[in-house]
Amino acid sequence: MSFLMNNYVRADIAFVRGKGARVIDDKGREFIDFAAGIGVNSLGHANKAVVNAICEQSGKILHSSNLYRILPQERAAQKISELLKRHTYTFFCNSGAEANEAAIKLARKYGTENFKEKKYEILTLKNSFHGRTMATLKATGQDKFHPDIFAPYIDGFKFFDDIDEIISNIDEKTVAVMIELIQGEGGIKPLEVDKVVKLAEVLKEKNLLLITDEVQCGVYRTGAFATSQIYGITPDIITFAKGLAGGVAIGACVCDKDIFAPGDHGSTFGGNFLATNTSLAVLNELENLQKSGKLARRISRFEKKLNKLVELYPEIFEKRVGLGLMQGLVLKDANNLSKIYTNALKHRVLILKSGTETLRFLPPLNIKKSDIKEGISRLCKALDEI
Ligand SMILES: *Cc1c(COP(=O)(O)O)cnc(C)c1O
Repeated sequence: MSFLMNNYVRADIAFVRGKGARVIDDKGREFIDFAAGIGVNSLGHANKAVVNAICEQSGKILHSSNLYRILPQERAAQKISELLKRHTYTFFCNSGAEANEAAIKLARKYGTENFKEKKYEILTLKNSFHGRTMATLKATGQDKFHPDIFAPYIDGFKFFDDIDEIISNIDEKTVAVMIELIQGEGGIKPLEVDKVVKLAEVLKEKNLLLITDEVQCGVYRTGAFATSQIYGITPDIITFAKGLAGGVAIGACVCDKDIFAPGDHGSTFGGNFLATNTSLAVLNELENLQKSGKLARRISRFEKKLNKLVELYPEIFEKRVGLGLMQGLVLKDANNLSKIYTNALKHRVLILKSGTETLRFLPPLNIKKSDIKEGISRLCKALDEI
């Protein structure tokens, strides 16, 4: 009998430890990890820098509340600003949804204070995913996330098919547009660069805000610190979370403007010593990984292997999609999605699903050549049985 709520679909596998991209369950079985806890374990399991940061910090102080200065929080915020190469103000919280909640509140305050008539509506994209809280659920552009059982929902969100449609639906109530540059849950779908650039220009001209939800695609996942840097845009607000502290709960809402006043927003746990000191260690490691060229090599290795899979299994795969180490393989037949996922588990390789027809890969960003090779060869065995 379970004492847990029944809200997850869980595989009957219980992991007990890991190292790098290998993770071991309570029966001693070893899995290759191409999922990284949904993009969270950016440096893999039991990474030395992460372990040291946690051990050292927990021997000193874990938490003080935000009633006092938290020096690692200040340093992590400065680091984010340095990596974005512009002055930014960061609010730390504990998850992606919370980071987006903060972004929504910032946008609403901005919309109240900067226009004669209050602007509050936020436009999002179909198939997006922005979180599970009441506001971020409504921001999520998928009707299946808005069932009647949870109604009534929060006002002030509208979603549209594509960027052109967003642009033509900006009206006097619109204060911001929130987009994932690469949709993570709705199929690995990178937005077109020229459309995003055009959207950014239109919003800038109207003094409206562009919010990029980089909870999944941010923090070096696509090769740069922020995916917006690859797109050549400077969003007014960026949200990060998943990979930002290598497995410790964290979220960050990063804004070019200092909009909140004391009391406007807060979090008990947000930005505490544990999370932000770990995040600093993770950011330093990832920055070095990128600067040394190692990240680019891992990305090209992984891409090549996935291209090879598309070549080897033309009857199963339509194409490879994605950027950096946020990759997808689109299936020709959506019915195969769960079969391949389950079969991969059987052959001890962890992958993810995305949308209705895409296999998703979010491996640790420092994944070793030998682990890529072994995982792909296991995946081939799983595919041979389809
Ligand atoms: C995972 C995710 C979220 C929600 O993050 P939580 O930490 O689960 O609240 C929001 N936006 C995107 C793009 C995500 O991938």
